[in-house]
Amino acid sequence: MTKPSLAVETLSICSGCEIAILDLHLALADVLDAIDLKYIQVLMDHREPPKEGVTVGFVSGGVRNEEHLERLKMLRERSQILVAFGACSAFGGVPGLANLHTKDEIMEEVYINTKSTVNPKKIIPPKIVPPMLEELHPVDDFVKVDYVLPGCPPPPKLIAELVTCLLEGREFHLEPKTVCDQCPLIKEEKAVTEFKRWGTDIVFTERCFLEQGYQCLGPSTQAGCEARCPTALSPCRGCFGPTENVEDQAAKMIGALGSIVVQDPSKAPAPEKIVKEVPDLVGTYLRFTFAHSTFKKAVHTPTVKTKPMKATT
Ligand code: SF4
Ligand code: SF4
Ligand code: SF4
Repeated sequence: MTKPSLAVETLSICSGCEIAILDLHLALADVLDAIDLKYIQVLMDHREPPKEGVTVGFVSGGVRNEEHLERLKMLRERSQILVAFGACSAFGGVPGLANLHTKDEIMEEVYINTKSTVNPKKIIPPKIVPPMLEELHPVDDFVKVDYVLPGCPPPPKLIAELVTCLLEGREFHLEPKTVCDQCPLIKEEKAVTEFKRWGTDIVFTERCFLEQGYQCLGPSTQAGCEARCPTALSPCRGCFGPTENVEDQAAKMIGALGSIVVQDPSKAPAPEKIVKEVPDLVGTYLRFTFAHSTFKKAVHTPTVKTKPMKATT
């Protein structure tokens, strides 16, 4: 019997998602036994998915340049099932925060302004570098996605579950729950009177971080990781993105904050104090999902003044 085949394409990535596949450890042997792994750059020398097509295509990373877009479309055409693999692919991930700046600002910062760069003629790379798109995009901005496996990176246990579902022809779904629903820390339903930055005060490690005033995105984040960060005594940063039917993770989180803050106005933290204690609002509430959020256009106010640049060929 012919085995189902798998191709893994990588776009704008850190490679953590591919390493998560290797982190299946012994279970990887079972996966490789059941699947014909046709293409994965971290393990093989091939430079593109097989022309005859594959059963399943995993795509990790967002779409930052024209080459990524071409490769994404190629994988979509050659895959019966396409999986957005990891937060970068599904929502833009951390690289999506670069959308706070224009393409020209980014090029100038990277090729001219960085302290370690010696570029007296202020040359921006010529054609050998694939042209950047104006913004980084999640893959579903361009192609139909059949399944999303979120996480930065996705946990190996969920990768194995997804692969098993696909092999057995079953649908794969994440439970409609939040990280809080899976979090083992004690919730006392205490109203919050102040917000604090992590590391600036005592943390009671057995109690809900949010109820102690620390930013934890558990209420606005899709479950599936078994609350691995709070379990490891670190707040949830939101890498699984919003729950199903929630358009925007930040909007959901702001709603959650409103419901836990003490209702007595004389005891409630002033809005300016909240903003002071959360200096990076986008990086806190949309760290992984800014490129996919409804706020992305409203927040796009370039902060660095740029001069016209001379591109060479
Ligand atoms: S989702 Fe995380 S681990 Fe995967 S490529 Fe993006 S930054 Fe790396
Ligand atoms: S807010 Fe964070 S610490 Fe509190 S229950 Fe939710 S996930 Fe756990
Ligand atoms: S706890 Fe939050 S940040 Fe940590 S892995 Fe889970 S979803 Fe991601």
